[in-house]
Amino acid sequence: MPRIAVYPGSFDPITNGHLDIVRRASRLCDHLYVAVADNSVKHHTFSVGERMAMVRAAIRGIPHCEVDTFHGLLGEHVKSMKATILIRGLRAVSDMDYEFQMASMNRRIYPDLETVFLMPDERYTYLSSSIVKDVTRMGAHVEEYLPPIVVRMLRRKFKLRKV
Ligand code: ADP
Repeated sequence: MPRIAVYPGSFDPITNGHLDIVRRASRLCDHLYVAVADNSVKHHTFSVGERMAMVRAAIRGIPHCEVDTFHGLLGEHVKSMKATILIRGLRAVSDMDYEFQMASMNRRIYPDLETVFLMPDERYTYLSSSIVKDVTRMGAHVEEYLPPIVVRMLRRKFKLRKV
């Protein structure tokens, strides 16, 4: 049986920290879906279409990896993709509380689904989509932390001049 994994998240937008996790995860499975949450409750800066387009461009070249989206209960989506591995990234202890709750709940509801936590390279430990948006809006340069398409889309979104 092929080992199919799903890496879900908001990816609002995808950063090099997320990408680092995608690369590590792709080495552990036969097929990886990067699943962009289509969640109307959460307010997102980018639409689901924009977030998927950025993920699609960013993961180009990473083997057996594709973008996907889901709506509603993640576990049901994972099951429908015939995936048995759920990938999450752990940056610091602060991520642990929420991730532990989610993984425990998923294990209860979906006993065949294994949550696998991966640590990014230490360069990305303090990186999050929200910090990237905050500092970009204020004019800082964070190109080294973002795929090129995200830099362009952020500039366009925040109507910043190309410098
Ligand atoms: P969510 O709303 O599901 O938390 P995010 O896009 O913020 O969506 O994060 C998706 C996953 O990627 C989470 O497991 C998160 O911990 C992880 N992640 C986010 N940023 C990084 C990073 N810089 N390095 C490693 N993992 C990260």
